[in-house]
Amino acid sequence: MHVLVTGGAGFIGSNFIHYMLKTHPNYQIVNLDLLTYAGNLDNLEAVRNHPNYHFVHGNICNSELIHAVLDQFAIDTIVNFAAESHVDRSITQPDLFIRTNVLGTQTLLEAAKNKHLNKYLQISTDEVYGSLGPTGYFTEKTALAPNSPYSASKASADMIVRAYYQTYGLAINITRCSNNYGPYHFPEKLIPLIITNALEDRELPVYGDGKNVRDWLYVADHCAAIDQVLHQGKPGEIYNIGGHNEICNIDLVKRILDKLNKPHCLIKYVSDRPGHDRRYAIDATKIEKELAWKPKYNFETGINETIQWYLTHKEWWHKLKTGAYMNFYKKQYGRS
Ligand code: NAD
Repeated sequence: MHVLVTGGAGFIGSNFIHYMLKTHPNYQIVNLDLLTYAGNLDNLEAVRNHPNYHFVHGNICNSELIHAVLDQFAIDTIVNFAAESHVDRSITQPDLFIRTNVLGTQTLLEAAKNKHLNKYLQISTDEVYGSLGPTGYFTEKTALAPNSPYSASKASADMIVRAYYQTYGLAINITRCSNNYGPYHFPEKLIPLIITNALEDRELPVYGDGKNVRDWLYVADHCAAIDQVLHQGKPGEIYNIGGHNEICNIDLVKRILDKLNKPHCLIKYVSDRPGHDRRYAIDATKIEKELAWKPKYNFETGINETIQWYLTHKEWWHKLKTGAYMNFYKKQYGRS
């Protein structure tokens, strides 16, 4: 396979590139990334000179560039991770989210259709389903009800991906995963924010009453699931991917503090995010039954590995927690 991975310098994309180069030594992997604040080539330093890895700096909205890259590298498959991915940022800059997440996806689909690619895989999110009450799970048949500009842009993209299958017969798949965690996770997101702030004895901002529930998926399990969909997924199908790890935010934060031997008084409740979804939980029966995928990591193992990674990669995250990031952080939580 010659795979174009878009957004490969981000959190999940870079984990996926490492995974693919290891698992499929004959595949060519081309990473196209705009290197926004979330894109970080340090994530890929170890494979920079790998003979099967190639990097292209560019925007998924640039149709000419995408067509040229598909030709130059004889691409047969696209996996689209590229996105603006932070809900808080989507509340202040929704236009950027529509441009990248919706128009960017359509640009990739159009190129994939024109070049008759074998597969287009869209990495989507469980957030397209909206929020659950205290019981029940999202299945692939749950109606879409996105609540933030971020999730609305991802849901819109999913609809367009579906249309390229129905209308043009492009062999697409959509995966909708729950919250990922693991190495290379940008410190604006909950788990790395808590770990890195706690290590620096800084306050830990927790939204609202902290009772929002998320279903955590270790990123290595997610990469294995994507690989499975890439090879075995039935064209046109959607697959939910979840970790069977439902935890409310405040319990998660306390668990991390206990593991790091840090006091709970570091926790600071802050005003809730507008439109904050209460609970996400994934029913992953379809991918487990049809594609024989199951998560290997329980939360205990995954979080221990993640904490260990942040402890041994301080220079990676120290670099990120400066300058523009600190300005965003102060605006968001009103403190440094
Ligand atoms: P991320 O923000 O860490 O990385 C996104 C990457 O996309 C960055 O490298 C960025 O530079 C790149 N990018 C942004 N705009 C671009 C553009 N116009 N052209 C090319 N590259 C561009 O995101 P992530 O957490 O790795 O998420 C990857 C995908 O998975 C996203 O589509 C996201 O919606 C989805 N997802 C993530 C999670 C999660 O928990 N992180 C959960 C569900 C779904």
